Amino acid sequence: EYSHAAPDGKERFFQARLVPEFDAQGHVEAVIVVSRDITALREARARVRMILDSVGEGVYGMDVDGNCTFLNPEALRLLRYTDAHDLLGKNLHAILHHSHADGTPLPDGECRIQRAFREGRDYVVDDEVFWRGDGTSFAVSYHSRPILKNRKIAGAVVTFTDITERRAIEEALRQSEERFRLLIESVAEGVFGVDKRGNCIFINPAGLHLLGYDTAGELIGKPIHALIHHAMPDGTTCREDHCPMVQAFLEDKDFYSDNDRLWRRDNSSFDVEYRSHPIRRNGTVVGSVTTFVDISERKRTERQLRQAATVFDGTIEAILITDANRNIVAVNRAYTTITGFTAEEVVGKNPRLQKSGQHDAAFYQSLWETLERDGQWQGEIWNRRKNGEMFPAWENISVVKDDQGHITNYVAVLSDISLIKKAEEQLRQLAHHDALTGLPNRLAFAATLEQALQRAKRHTHKVALLFLDLDHFKRINDTLGHIAGDKLLQVVGARLKRCVRAEDSVARLGGDEFTIILDDIAHPEDAAILANKILEAFRKPITIDDREVVTSPSIGISIFPDDAGTADDLAKTADAAMYQAKDRGRHTYEFYTKELTSRALEHLALENALRQALAKKQFVLHYQPFLDIKTGKIAGVEALLRWQHPERGLVNPDMFLSVAEETGLIDPIGDWVLHEACAQAAAWRAGQPHLRVAINLSGRQILDGDLAGTVQATMKELGLCPGELRLEIEITERTLYTTERSVETLRQLRALGVHIAIDDFGTGYSSLSQLKRLPVDTLKIDRSLMQDVPENPGDRAIAAAIISLGHTMDLRVVAEGVETRAQLDFLEAQGCDEAQGFLFSKPVDQEQIRRLVERDAVMA
Ligand code: C2E
Ligand code: CA
Ligand code: CA
Repeated sequence: EYSHAAPDGKERFFQARLVPEFDAQGHVEAVIVVSRDITALREARARVRMILDSVGEGVYGMDVDGNCTFLNPEALRLLRYTDAHDLLGKNLHAILHHSHADGTPLPDGECRIQRAFREGRDYVVDDEVFWRGDGTSFAVSYHSRPILKNRKIAGAVVTFTDITERRAIEEALRQSEERFRLLIESVAEGVFGVDKRGNCIFINPAGLHLLGYDTAGELIGKPIHALIHHAMPDGTTCREDHCPMVQAFLEDKDFYSDNDRLWRRDNSSFDVEYRSHPIRRNGTVVGSVTTFVDISERKRTERQLRQAATVFDGTIEAILITDANRNIVAVNRAYTTITGFTAEEVVGKNPRLQKSGQHDAAFYQSLWETLERDGQWQGEIWNRRKNGEMFPAWENISVVKDDQGHITNYVAVLSDISLIKKAEEQLRQLAHHDALTGLPNRLAFAATLEQALQRAKRHTHKVALLFLDLDHFKRINDTLGHIAGDKLLQVVGARLKRCVRAEDSVARLGGDEFTIILDDIAHPEDAAILANKILEAFRKPITIDDREVVTSPSIGISIFPDDAGTADDLAKTADAAMYQAKDRGRHTYEFYTKELTSRALEHLALENALRQALAKKQFVLHYQPFLDIKTGKIAGVEALLRWQHPERGLVNPDMFLSVAEETGLIDPIGDWVLHEACAQAAAWRAGQPHLRVAINLSGRQILDGDLAGTVQATMKELGLCPGELRLEIEITERTLYTTERSVETLRQLRALGVHIAIDDFGTGYSSLSQLKRLPVDTLKIDRSLMQDVPENPGDRAIAAAIISLGHTMDLRVVAEGVETRAQLDFLEAQGCDEAQGFLFSKPVDQEQIRRLVERDAVMA
């Protein structure tokens, strides 16, 4: 090779080949110089070297035998050799590629670099190691490419880099990815990702669980919006182009919501809180990740809390809540209304600020003791309002404990009962005063009389007691009506009051009975003077509703201590005297005389006689049939009590029932009637199974004792099951409404198959609508209402109304006291179900009723 300057001054390089020419003798005759300009080639080589020197990868070349032909500085550096000659011309496989990373030998045949030029193929490998000059190794990535010369393999060029670091990064990445995956899989939140088309690309186990799927395969690759978010919380469709989760990747926005629902595979749904983030790659959004949690429970408690808050603030009772240390933590609006304290004024303070000072320490001590023992205290407690006013409250305090049983709060609910107290006061007033006339009532009268007698005893003076009863009041009441009757009583009360001195006490005992106590009289005649004055005052007619009514009292007078020594006896004797006055022809007064006692004695005698009658079995039952109006056949019989008196003969119940009731003898008598009637009903069961047997009960029997139990026992004794007896009990309206207990008794009787009839309907005060609430089967129209039917248009209208109203309430309607054919025709026309009365038969004895029933003919 040589160079010389070219005409343009630049140095050019040539490669010359000298070819000698020989003569016949073999001497050099001439030399042929073949010269080639290699300037460009040299430049190219220099460029290659420069490139090789400067590239960041190691490069070396090999000949067909695997011996190194060249290598660049980076290769030396990577392989940690300083002198290229340590490698040039040597077999590189043996030097730097003899073993795997773990040190096991890598034979020639397995070396893919060797293979590259044997097979004339490229190989890219990044899972092997190269060994350095210092005996260490590094993870290598190499690319070997065979060198072809004239289509024949001449060697190979290998470029390689140390990828230890990349490996480490990759490993770290792999590990962090793994950690990330583990994290995603183990979190309680659901996590899923979607691609740009909204198809699920991954979902974690929590997500699957929350959404009710078993495997990720059920969701992956599917449009997730349609599966889990197709509807709004209210059930209306949620369109994909409105879906905020979808916006996350369509519009590259973060989205958060805690007011939405997701839908499970089984199409149930749950309250959800979620966040959606877009996933970006190289600056563009490729999808989104959504994390979500089921917040149904939280929502529920929120709702409950809201409700509780509403109740708390909405209730009319004041509510005060303290912590375990009894410091107020909350009060409601009603508390402020009632006490005047606002929440700001009391929160953090001790409830003692409302203490009234009305209760002693012992009261509070027992309160806390009860609270500790029972977890609750209730009672009346006086508190103080902000303005200092004291008020009674009905307070209910309860203890709130946590799961461990530690007290966390005290809750006091208190209602202001000052109004109730006022009402109670009014009631007390009412209890002592007759609402109609405003006069003291029986209670007040008794108290006043007692006081008067005590005073009289001390000062040894006399007291006169006057009993007054209006003559013919009942008739006035019946003809003018209750309202007019009430007005009359008011006028009478006022007139009486005007006749006496201020210190004399006028009272109304009830009905048309009045009393006057004359305290401290000198002579009995003083009472007579007053009695005359009263009678005189009543000569003047009383005007009520434009009608003039004349009424007058009959007056009985009794004197303490002359006629009686006690208040009770004084009342009894005055009462007896009043009856005497009535007997004497009314509108008069009468002093008590000893003879009058005989009446009371009679009463006593009757009581004894009744006891005897019971013991000697002198009671009998008579029976009166009632008919089915449509068929004319006997529908049943009513048992009516009679007393077979040895001397007086057959005595009707009117004569003795009131005494029996007063003395309680009605109980054993009633039991006897029940038993007797049931036995009769049982006897009829075979032949006349449709017959109802009705018995009458007094109020006492329903209010006291165990009537249902007695009926049940009686049935059992007769070998009957509930429902096998067609028993009906008759009760008057008045006894019915009195108590819950009597209604309960009726229900029990009903359950035993017993029918309930309202007797004497139309005489009491009840309304049909009230009846609706009672377990009643039959309505018996009172005979007083039938008396003037059909002549009296008013009575006719009332009877017709009762019948049709009874029917609308599904009741059987029975008319009693039917005496005439005309009455029966009227009833038939009105559709009345049954009739009873003298027209068909009077009450008859057992033998006769048996015959009547057997013939079933009462209407000849
Ligand atoms: P009551 O329940 O209204 O019984 C019907 C009464 O009306 C019977 O009087 C009967 O003789 C009478 N009567 C029936 N048909 C007619 C008629 O067409 N015209 C007229 N003017 N009267 C008729 P009695 O038997 O004197 O009974 C009177 C009341 O004594 C009964 O009224 C009932 O309340 C009560 N009573 C009867 N037996 C018993 C009983 O065993 N226990 C109880 N607690 N009370 C009974
Ligand atoms: Ca009856
Ligand atoms: Ca009746």
